[in-house]
Amino acid sequence: MSDFFTRSVDVGDPLVSDALDRELQRQQNQIELIASENIVSRAVLDALGHPITNKTLEGYPGNRFHGGGEFVDLVEQAAIDRARELFGCDYVNAQPHSGTQANQAVFFATVKPGDPILSLDLAAGGHLSHGAAPNQSGRWFDAHHYGVDRDSGLIDYDEVERIAAEVRPALLITGGSAYPRVIDFARMRRIADAVGALLLVDMAHFAGLVAAGAHPSPLPHADIVTCTTTKTMRGPRGGLILSRDMAWAKQLQSAIFPGVQGSLHSQIIAAKAVCLGEALQDDFKAYGKQVIENARRLAQVLSDQGITLVSGGTDTHIVLLDFSSMGLTGQQVQDSLARINLTSNKNPIPFDSTRPSEWAGLRLGVAAATTRGLGSEDFELLGQIIARAIARCATAADDGAEADRQQVLKLCQRFPIYP
Ligand SMILES: *Cc1c(COP(=O)(O)O)cnc(C)c1O
Repeated sequence: MSDFFTRSVDVGDPLVSDALDRELQRQQNQIELIASENIVSRAVLDALGHPITNKTLEGYPGNRFHGGGEFVDLVEQAAIDRARELFGCDYVNAQPHSGTQANQAVFFATVKPGDPILSLDLAAGGHLSHGAAPNQSGRWFDAHHYGVDRDSGLIDYDEVERIAAEVRPALLITGGSAYPRVIDFARMRRIADAVGALLLVDMAHFAGLVAAGAHPSPLPHADIVTCTTTKTMRGPRGGLILSRDMAWAKQLQSAIFPGVQGSLHSQIIAAKAVCLGEALQDDFKAYGKQVIENARRLAQVLSDQGITLVSGGTDTHIVLLDFSSMGLTGQQVQDSLARINLTSNKNPIPFDSTRPSEWAGLRLGVAAATTRGLGSEDFELLGQIIARAIARCATAADDGAEADRQQVLKLCQRFPIYP
């Protein structure tokens, strides 16, 4: 017990410590292209590793079920105030443990089991928590889905309108995990209004771009907006619920606690406050702008190399590649990129198979590498490296892979993380 408060993990737990060291080296020596990832600041890490993690609290600032909450109150109120300022909204709940739980709380607050809901289909870029069959939301609600247009890859708003008129959803949901384009929020609002539905926009992926002023905001159009504080927000793992006004405040407060969660995660709330504070700074605006520039450059290079992009390009941090005409799977390309220290994920493309091993797509995201400092020239180079890796997949030849891996390592050394 004598060294309980001083013994570090490297002394006390070699197994975990070794895995942590190797994970850090992995991050340092590869370029992260998974669109849902980012790299948090030292300040966010400080908050996450702070003894504030010991504090158990239920309820909301100024109205807690346990004593000793005055300092957590300070950080939770800061998170709320900063999110209000950042997104220009009145209502903020900073407690959701994840994006999925933020959505679950919105369901709990606004609809009843068996109610019809309408959301973007999983294969078209939607999210599990929007009523997909294996998710609780798919079991408990009468879930219907809209897709994208086969030619343009864009949400088929006429189809949304048609299905909405037919199923009369209580909740219309938009936003997704692999949709690279700006969504027409105003059109979604009109469709929701025409059938008396509430509109939920899940901006998990593009929240950071909205915060940076680099992407239109859904807040003026949606009844409720959810997001994660990871992904483009580049904060801790967790979620937020936002609304432009207080119309749903009471229901949403009690939906998170005691509806679907118990005590809050104090260290995460502190890290959310830090992340939201960072997002209010000017350099976050520059980051958001650079993310868009980098994604466009990457999309352009890949498209020039003859690779098909879903929707033909991007308005966000996401570039979705379609290998169906090349006869490759996303898994093959993911593996080929992994061999040259580029991390990515296979993904379905619209109308794709439901079996992950057959998916013909790969999702790339530029946010983490942009945080690292890579600019559009670097993404030009990365695009060429990625195109060569895809070509190697198609020919099963391995020549040039080591040279490309060395180029990636050089980028990692030029833009170090956590030195
Ligand atoms: C990532 C994501 C979520 C879920 O976030 P978790 O924190 O992983 O639960 C929810 N909705 C969308 C659209 C997402 O992309």
